[in-house]
Amino acid sequence: MQVSTQEIVLSNASVKLFIKREDLIHPFVSGNKFRKLKYNLIEARNQNHKTLLTFGGAYSNHIAAVAFAGKENGFKTIGVVRGDELGSKISQNPTLKFCQDNGMEFVFVSREHYRLKNTEDFISCLKNDFGNFYLIPEGGTNDLAIRGCEEILTMEDKKYNYICCALGTGGTIAGIINSSSSQQQVLGFPSLKGDFIKEDIRKLAKNENWELISEYHFGGYGKVSSELIEFINDFYKKYFIPLDPIYTGKMVFGIIDLISKNYFPQNSKILLIHTGGIQGIKGMNLKLSNKNLKTINFND
Ligand SMILES: *Cc1c(COP(=O)(O)O)cnc(C)c1O
Repeated sequence: MQVSTQEIVLSNASVKLFIKREDLIHPFVSGNKFRKLKYNLIEARNQNHKTLLTFGGAYSNHIAAVAFAGKENGFKTIGVVRGDELGSKISQNPTLKFCQDNGMEFVFVSREHYRLKNTEDFISCLKNDFGNFYLIPEGGTNDLAIRGCEEILTMEDKKYNYICCALGTGGTIAGIINSSSSQQQVLGFPSLKGDFIKEDIRKLAKNENWELISEYHFGGYGKVSSELIEFINDFYKKYFIPLDPIYTGKMVFGIIDLISKNYFPQNSKILLIHTGGIQGIKGMNLKLSNKNLKTINFND
């Protein structure tokens, strides 16, 4: 799949910035979630599975992608969703509504119960209820997902000195690291707090030309500030590129900040990977407007 790369023209900068528009792959199966599912769907079909089962939070880009890609490829889909209070509120949640409209069946579980999702007991209970299924982990990260993400970078991307990517579970950046060349530096921007992620990536990635920049999580996973929301709105006004508040907005905020602090050597060529996530904006806006906070707006 050929994805377009565009330059982000900065004023007064001594570096060149580019963005790879993986978000344009599909409005709902966007960016890295498409890459992560590709070989898993092939494997599920090879194993003659009829059903995909996966896990996710209330606004998960991953379960939206599984619902849509599952339907397109003729699979039944089951989403195990974190939060037992959500079962009665599907129509008020744009992500879950989308999943349901695409045929996904849900199992809503309490937060405590959700933590047990990788245990044998939990899985065998689900098998009792639903029969056999192809299991895709939370966030979609497994070996086949990493293989799919190794296809994000192409030969033409060898010219960049830095490759930047937002991260959650680290599967996407592992694929990018694996297919980067050793002269390139891969920078990961975690969207959540915690050091465990570094260990995870060490296990998943084959090369060592990477580091994490952990100062731009804005308080943790799913947390935003009015500064971040304004940044996303301004960035759209300037460049007509939509960013999501959970992942790509934080990464691009971080990069622009690092550039202003002269983090990068002069004339560096920096490639940002736009991993998508745009479907999550509606849900974030609902949360923000419930608190009377400024929302993400790409219309004016
Ligand atoms: C899921 C997601 C990520 C994080 O991907 P991981 O492979 O879990 O690190 C980054 N950006 C977007 C838009 C996502 O939806």
